[in-house]
Amino acid sequence: MRAMLLEQPKPAEENPLQLRELPLPAPGVGEIRIRVHACGICRTDLHTVEGDLPLRKTPLVPGHQIVGVVDAVGAGVRALREGDRVGVAWVYWTCGECPYCRKGQENLCDKARFTGYHVDGGYAEATVVPESFAYPLPEGFTDLEVAPLLCAGIVGYRSFRLSNVQPGERLGLYGFGASAHIILQVARHLGCEVYVFTRTESHRVLAKELGAVWVGEAKDTPPAQLDAAIIFAPAGPLVLEALRVLRKGGTVSLADITMTPIPQIDYDSLLYHERILRSVANSTREDGRDFLRLAAEIPVRTEIEIFDLEQANQALQAMKHSKIQGAGVLRIE
Ligand SMILES: [Zn+2]
Ligand SMILES: [Zn+2]
Repeated sequence: MRAMLLEQPKPAEENPLQLRELPLPAPGVGEIRIRVHACGICRTDLHTVEGDLPLRKTPLVPGHQIVGVVDAVGAGVRALREGDRVGVAWVYWTCGECPYCRKGQENLCDKARFTGYHVDGGYAEATVVPESFAYPLPEGFTDLEVAPLLCAGIVGYRSFRLSNVQPGERLGLYGFGASAHIILQVARHLGCEVYVFTRTESHRVLAKELGAVWVGEAKDTPPAQLDAAIIFAPAGPLVLEALRVLRKGGTVSLADITMTPIPQIDYDSLLYHERILRSVANSTREDGRDFLRLAAEIPVRTEIEIFDLEQANQALQAMKHSKIQGAGVLRIE
């Protein structure tokens, strides 16, 4: 099978991924093999190929927003069969036994393994995953359209949930890439007003089209205080900007897996009065199922920019420089 392989992390501009021919993986006990049709690109892929995250495996096939069709099943597979369309997200496996898993917080599992990080992912023609971590996908979305729902959507939805925003309240989104353009639609569906902060002019246009009531830059002050905010861009100084325009008792949730240093926070003016600052890590399978159901019901429309598998480096470069409208997706045939 063809795959885009990372041998050594380096800046996206230096083309860290190489097109290689790899043996077709075989599904083990409880696993399925998926013939991949589409794989969304995610900022975490960029953090992986550039070495911002410590690598757990090399060489590595990145990619964790995988859409395809089951083409082989291992022993003991019960629910899925050949021909079923499924998706795979970031969480590849959890132990089911640690204190977090037993409390319904498998997103924090001590032994969790992640797709396209601990194991090879979806920048390839095929991949293997435990059956219990594959999601049946709602109809009404093409393979390319549904791919960004699997991480930008699911982790974005968890960030939205943990922001504590309620129907009718004002939600700020900092950074307007794949995740924010999906969560804006979820927030509006639930009756929230959405305020978008981004430097990129084309992103502001898209935010307006999708129904943001106000768009501006992070340094700007919106006409009303926010009840909650989600920071999607991995830039620590944004934390101060979001706290600055947040009401008493409001929450700022941080959606990225890594972030540049957060500057010193003045307690009296930015944090006191019960403002909450919280990070968001991964997702549970319940988040995934809940979000996919909601996305189909709304229905969420993903804005996508399509790249061929061998253009994965260019896709990552475009994302890095905020040149993608909505979400980037690799088409794999
Ligand atoms: Zn666990
Ligand atoms: Zn992701």
